[in-house]
Amino acid sequence: MVAAVAVGAFAAAGAAQTVQALGGPSQSASDEVMPLAASAPDGAAAFGVGGDEAPAAPQIIPVAKTVDAASEAQKLAKSQQIVEQREAAEAERLRPKFVSPAQGTFTSGYGGRWGTVHYGIDIAGPTGTPILSAADGTILEAGTASGFGLWVRVLHDTGEVTVYGHVDSYSVSKGQRVKAGEQIARMGNRGVSTGTHLHFEVWESDGGLKLNPQTWLNARGIVV
Ligand SMILES: [Zn+2]
Repeated sequence: MVAAVAVGAFAAAGAAQTVQALGGPSQSASDEVMPLAASAPDGAAAFGVGGDEAPAAPQIIPVAKTVDAASEAQKLAKSQQIVEQREAAEAERLRPKFVSPAQGTFTSGYGGRWGTVHYGIDIAGPTGTPILSAADGTILEAGTASGFGLWVRVLHDTGEVTVYGHVDSYSVSKGQRVKAGEQIARMGNRGVSTGTHLHFEVWESDGGLKLNPQTWLNARGIVV
């Protein structure tokens, strides 16, 4: 009732005071109102805002009806979609396209070793160390391999193949798409191996020349 009377009084007093009173429980505002309302109880009724008709006063508001809510919602959804697409494109642009296949100690390079040729690089670490796909690609093979115990081979979009040998276990299967940095296996000591490490090779193509993985990685901004 007090609020209703106050609105009525302000309607008479002017817009500036109305804003002040509605904005919060300003003590000085209600002090001004009370004497007015008390001294002129019929005045409030004259404005049509007293007593039971009090809710009628704020009916000036239905401005919102002029807005097409569905159209506005559609515009908002569209702009959100554009923002999301832009963010996804930016994330895709910024994500690493090449990574080191494992963190650990570089223990052996590519080339002649012990009277034979070592066609990969070795990175040693604790058993279970994550092994990551060095680049985007498709799993060509994940399974047993002579000498390597278990291996994973990834076919990259360039036609090149990366090989991950002696793995303790793998978590991918043939045909699966993987991204650079995605974990595909865990470091192990299977096959012909003298300690837990990753043997990593890069092939020019499936069955093609075996490239120097260190050079290949360096050329792609990865230092091992
Ligand atoms: Zn090796």
